[in-house]
Amino acid sequence: MSAAALTCPRCQSTSFVKNGRTHNGRQNFRCKACGKQFVLNPTKKVIGQDTRELIDKLLLEKLLLAGIVRVTGVSEGWLQTYVNTKYDTIPKQVDVWPKKRGT
Ligand SMILES: [Zn+2]
Repeated sequence: MSAAALTCPRCQSTSFVKNGRTHNGRQNFRCKACGKQFVLNPTKKVIGQDTRELIDKLLLEKLLLAGIVRVTGVSEGWLQTYVNTKYDTIPKQVDVWPKKRGT
């Protein structure tokens, strides 16, 4: 993320100051020109490996997705996509008779 790309979403000013952090830990900024407070890239939150591992554990505990959202702070949309992707990629070998290879 280059500093030159940072602009106020309201007035496009590049003059702003750090303004503490939001409740979920993201850097908050305040525009010096128009006074708007904003968070950079609020929708592009990267979910770390630690969080993913925690989610995996919670899924094994059969916690409801809404509960996992509350515990980990990820968005419901992200979690739904993550779960869908996860169960799509898990090989469903449990109920399938193994195919013979070779010969
Ligand atoms: Zn502004």
